[in-house]
Amino acid sequence: TPQTETKEFQTEVKKMLDIVIHSLYTEKEIFLRELISNAADALEKFRHQSVVEQEVFDSHIPLEISIEFDDKANTLTITDTGIGMDRGELEANLGTIAHSGSKTFFTKLSETDRKEVNLIGQFGVGFYAAFMVAKKVTVKSRSFRMDDMGHEWISDGGGTFTIAMCPGIRRGTSIVLELTDEAKEYANEQTIRRIIKQYSSFVPFPIKLKGEAINTVQAIWTLGKSEISEEAYTEFYKFIANAFDEPLARLHFSADAPLAIKTLLFIPKENLEAMGFGRMEPGVNLYCQRVLIEQHSKTILPEWLRFLRGVIDSEDLPLNISRQALQDSALVAKINKVVTKRLLKFLEELAKSEPEKYTEFWKNFGMFIKEGVISDFAYREEAAKLLRFESSKTEDGIFTSLAEYVERMPEDQKEIFYINGPSREAIENGPYIEAFKKRNIEVLYTLEPIDDFAMSHLGSFGEKKLVSADCGDLDLPEAAIETEADKEKAQAEAMPESDSAALTTWMKEVLGEQVKEVIASKRLTDSPAMVVNPDGFVTSSMERIMRASGQ
Ligand code: ADP
Ligand code: MG
Repeated sequence: TPQTETKEFQTEVKKMLDIVIHSLYTEKEIFLRELISNAADALEKFRHQSVVEQEVFDSHIPLEISIEFDDKANTLTITDTGIGMDRGELEANLGTIAHSGSKTFFTKLSETDRKEVNLIGQFGVGFYAAFMVAKKVTVKSRSFRMDDMGHEWISDGGGTFTIAMCPGIRRGTSIVLELTDEAKEYANEQTIRRIIKQYSSFVPFPIKLKGEAINTVQAIWTLGKSEISEEAYTEFYKFIANAFDEPLARLHFSADAPLAIKTLLFIPKENLEAMGFGRMEPGVNLYCQRVLIEQHSKTILPEWLRFLRGVIDSEDLPLNISRQALQDSALVAKINKVVTKRLLKFLEELAKSEPEKYTEFWKNFGMFIKEGVISDFAYREEAAKLLRFESSKTEDGIFTSLAEYVERMPEDQKEIFYINGPSREAIENGPYIEAFKKRNIEVLYTLEPIDDFAMSHLGSFGEKKLVSADCGDLDLPEAAIETEADKEKAQAEAMPESDSAALTTWMKEVLGEQVKEVIASKRLTDSPAMVVNPDGFVTSSMERIMRASGQ
């Protein structure tokens, strides 16, 4: 390799840098949070590697972050003694965006004029925030691996960066920012202190300014609930989720049997995935006795719980467990199960104790519960208790649970009915609902395309079968509210059987292959005709989706 190489940033990175440098004017100070959080990640990774690997470079230097500034030269330097990066890692990590979610995010962000800077950190592109304040960024890094040399990465945030050798440095990474004129204020002791206090007080390593630690290092999830204030919980959430707002809800619990686990989970307020920013990465970190084993673990919780943020710490896990072993570990599977069950129970209780909060949760995150019902057989029944729908017996915008539906059912009703439609209005003006209205039978309104998949995967709730109201052979009880007068009127208006037979035969001839059969309906009262579904499993709305997706 030549001494100094010049490389191009990946296209997505260029787009992002353009936004970062030219369009983001507010809350520039989060750059420091991003760099400190990277330093903390690097230290956590090193701490784990040092138990896994035989030999690590510079094994005795303390694990810490230090901040230096020079208000004459306008520079700010963030140094960590973490895992470091070799040449290839510098190039890959600081030249491309690895997460596909982040790519989608920035492509979207550059297309619209939504400049949601506070979302940057959540998409794993935090490093580039440095260019919000710096005209030049120099990264010196040396990996923990014994055979690494130390390299220097430099960029002004234009289209390229350079990498050169930089021998003789210690393990870890040092990031030197040459501040722009507008960002001079960040080379100031008071400002730095304030920002670190605000965003980084939960970093689990000392952050040193002028040789003295300015944060209190604490693993909050290991403390008892009574020892933690509301503010501390919120601050910790902001730290771990890279968030700016408060969480919607939290679950903090510890157990000793069957497993020793300490868990602190948060439900955010916003669902970025529903906002169109691409698929979310999971957000729960796995620890063993305060040592980070796996960040954003894909194995510690089911995929459909990827909206959660937080920490699971289990002292039963071996500290030196490898990535591969994690995936195959029966213990991890066990932790997964215990925590998932506990969380589902927590949500069920939340629905009872704080119905408004639960509704807010449901509106934002209900899609994940439905995904769980569809994809995860193991929790289908528990997750079904969390489902909410509007119905013919709720007000507009008010939800009901399946259990509440069952409670309201008349004794002779055997099934739970639902019907899919684009809106409440469309359903109520459609033909499917008529027969139910007449009999005073409640129908759930499944307003999202995914709903019918959830319903048919679920199949039944308790003893009650779930049946789509567009199903061909519905078995409805006699209309309860029919009066003698109604009956006489119906008989007077009814078409003689020979006429209706002639009509249905003619219609079948005209419609041909497009319909399976045409029959005289006993369900309709006001509408002349409706299309129903002969096989019952795949509802009309599911069929539309499948056709649209080419299946
Ligand atoms: P994220 O932290 O979400 O992965 P960033 O843009 O903040 O995204 O950082 C990109 C990557 O660069 C990190 O995943 C990490 O591999 C690497 N990196 C950044 N800062 C450091 C550091 N101080 N030490 C080691 N690696 C780092
Ligand atoms: Mg980061």
